[in-house]
Amino acid sequence: MTEWVSLIRDVPDYPKPGVVFKDITPLLADHSAFTQVVDELGAGLAFDKVVGIEARGFILAAPVAYRAGAGFVPVRKKGKLPAQTFEANYDLEYGSATVEVHSDAFAPGERVLIVDDVLATGGTANATVELVRRAGAHVIGVSVLMELSFLSGRDRLPGLEVRSLVTV
Ligand code: IMP
Repeated sequence: MTEWVSLIRDVPDYPKPGVVFKDITPLLADHSAFTQVVDELGAGLAFDKVVGIEARGFILAAPVAYRAGAGFVPVRKKGKLPAQTFEANYDLEYGSATVEVHSDAFAPGERVLIVDDVLATGGTANATVELVRRAGAHVIGVSVLMELSFLSGRDRLPGLEVRSLVTV
C-alpha cells in the first residue's frame, strides 16, 4: 500500500460518538503525499472540468484541475452559491441535505470528473452526479482519496468509473 496512507488519521467519536472520522489534514500538510494523491486522482482520465464537493473536495479537486489544464466547478451546500443554481437533495442518517451547482457551470456535453476526499454511503456523490447531468454535462468518473467500502457507496454510482486511491 502507498506510503501516504499512514498520513490519514482516525479520529474516534467525531463528529459524534461511535463514528471514526478519517482526517486527511496530515496528508495535505505533506508536500510529497499531497502531490502524489493529486496526480493519482486524475491520472489517465480525459476531462474538461473537475467538480469539487464542499469542503474537503475543493482542496483536492482544484489542483487536479490545475494540473490537467481543466476548469474547476464547486458543488456547495444550499445557499452558498450566488447565481442561479440547480439543487439536489439526499438523505443523511438523520434528515437530509441539499447541494447546488451553478446552472451555467458547464458547456453542453463537457466531460466532468467529480472529486471528493471520502466516499462513504455515496449519497453526496450520487447527488453531485445528478446535478452535473441536469446542468447538461457528462460525468466521466468519480475519484476519491478514500472509500469506506463497508458503506457500499459505489453501489449508488452505477455505470460510472469510481476510482478510490485507498479502500478500507
Ligand atoms: P456520503 O455522502 O455518505 O458518501 O459521505 C461522503 C461525504 O461526507 C464526503 O463529502 C466526505 O467529505 C464526508 N465524509 C464522510 N465520512 C467522512 C470521513 O470519515 N472523513 C472525512 N469526510 C467524510
